Amino acid sequence: MSTSIININKQFGNFQALKDVNLTVKDGEFLAILGPSGCGKTTLLRLLAGFESPTDGTIQIDGKEAATAKKVIPPERRNVSMVFQSFALWPHLNVREHVQFAMKYHRFVGPAFKEKQKAEARIDEVLKIVGLEQFGSRMPGELSGGQKQRVSLARAIAPEPQLLLMDEPLSNLDAELRIEMRHEIQKLHRLTKASILYVTHDQGEALAMADRIVVMNGGEIEQIGTPEQIYDQPETPFVATFVGKANLFEGTWNGATFTHKHAPVTWEDYGISNRLKEQNLYALRPEQIRLSTSDVSQIRGTIVTKQFQGKEYHYVIEVGGREIVVDLPLHEQFEIGEEVGIVPRV
Ligand code: ATP
Repeated sequence: MSTSIININKQFGNFQALKDVNLTVKDGEFLAILGPSGCGKTTLLRLLAGFESPTDGTIQIDGKEAATAKKVIPPERRNVSMVFQSFALWPHLNVREHVQFAMKYHRFVGPAFKEKQKAEARIDEVLKIVGLEQFGSRMPGELSGGQKQRVSLARAIAPEPQLLLMDEPLSNLDAELRIEMRHEIQKLHRLTKASILYVTHDQGEALAMADRIVVMNGGEIEQIGTPEQIYDQPETPFVATFVGKANLFEGTWNGATFTHKHAPVTWEDYGISNRLKEQNLYALRPEQIRLSTSDVSQIRGTIVTKQFQGKEYHYVIEVGGREIVVDLPLHEQFEIGEEVGIVPRV
């Protein structure tokens, strides 16, 4: 059954943290909520978990009403588990006891798990799934960051929730471990078949892991789509810049032709969304630009920085008082101070 967020508003005093949010998480879907700090991602998760109540609107979990402004079902009575950024482990419980406690506390735990033997077997099973079968008696203080996060994942999946909420679960891990854990979480998703609502401000994580991405900004949803749709067809300037780091150019659209505002230069449409066109914008991501020193008719600028990135060079180019970012393959090299033309590579 799906989870629906219907016309949700959340007010903290005079501050509106969520504005008219509408969203359906499909059964078994991995949905990422992506947005900058303070955009309301955690507030949305807390509403689904039952730690906050909406000012207005309805939350339905498993097709049943879980919260309105007047009525809120408490967290343990929802078929939902949450994984926290901070791991949230208890210092006095060992790994096994963490999972055991979660199963006792969760009222939705299937009847089979009420029998001690079956519950013990389930604990063994989830510790194996997260790769901690040898660590059952360890205390949190004796675990690495990655192992602590595995405990919080084991604890969350043990009661077999219908919906798993994850609040930036990888942000306290180092870069290498973060990449490894992305795979672990994807495997876990396939195994549990639960719906996952995964909050992150890291576009790489959202693009790599999610079936669909919800981009949020200032308490509102900017766009919902598959990773490919969000990356290739951003519908708002915010999504274009936040997700694809796109450069936006102003001008006028005439059918499939864009004329730049500050120069007699025309560029052809390569599939820019209608909503960006309506705002008279042309978006080019850093890898969608080529530089030219020969073609004088192009938009021109001066290279101000050049950074080696391993597989490419990253350039910043000053064009008419603003900065354009460009990523070029290693064999297309330019130097700081060079005057160059900006040419779409689309
Ligand atoms: P981050 O990535 O930094 O965690 P976020 O997108 O998860 O950010 P939220 O934690 O949902 O953002 O907060 C959204 C806004 O609501 C912020 O401006 C925050 O200060 C405000 N806010 C959150 N909780 C409360 C509260 N209990 N009282 C007052 N304001 C709050």
